[in-house]
Amino acid sequence: MRGLTVYKDHVIHHNGLKGNQPPIEGLSLTTFASIALRWNKSKDYLLRTHAMTLRKTTDYDGFPFEDFYEIRYGAKDHYHASDDPSIRVTFHDTREAEFDYVAMASRDTTTAYKRGRSGTPQETRFKIHSASIGRQEGDADVWAKGEAVRLTAILDGLDQAMHTLRSWAESGVNMRVLCPTWACRWDAKQAIISSDRLLAYADKGLSLDDFKLKLRCRVCGAACSDIRAA
Ligand SMILES: [Zn+2]
Repeated sequence: MRGLTVYKDHVIHHNGLKGNQPPIEGLSLTTFASIALRWNKSKDYLLRTHAMTLRKTTDYDGFPFEDFYEIRYGAKDHYHASDDPSIRVTFHDTREAEFDYVAMASRDTTTAYKRGRSGTPQETRFKIHSASIGRQEGDADVWAKGEAVRLTAILDGLDQAMHTLRSWAESGVNMRVLCPTWACRWDAKQAIISSDRLLAYADKGLSLDDFKLKLRCRVCGAACSDIRAA
């Protein structure tokens, strides 16, 4: 099996079996939504240590609004990567009570060929719609089940590591400090604090929130806007 798309109640195989197939145990949309939405906090770390990145794109031209999160493997940076294998998670805007996240979104008629008009951004609810798995080698379903387990374990471990300043320092994961000034973000290497240095602050008894409040951008002096695994 070269690839498949997982929906809420069924699965579609990209070649071979035609039509809707029964759900596959171990491949649930909840799992893929959780993986896609937790990725950003650790994206620099996952690129550096696992050569994986997640690329988000949107399509707000038609109905519904669509957000795509594509996991890429063998990546050297966040922008270029091979297309195989890949996991692409799609979210649609929804008016239902059950949703995965809220984002500001506005209709945009810009295409690759012409610049269009965009409307006023509005709070929009998004809910997972599908997860497409593509792989040239082997059984895509077996591989995807393994990846769902492996990626969840990696992200669970990072969530645990980033829970307190001490657990973060002892995990060996570095910290990236984000500046709210857009231009400073390109100077990413400036803003990495090694886990060894974090340990010195943890030994002083600082909590993670206290430590975050102390952080200032080395370039422009602004208070840090967010911290991530690096
Ligand atoms: Zn700055």
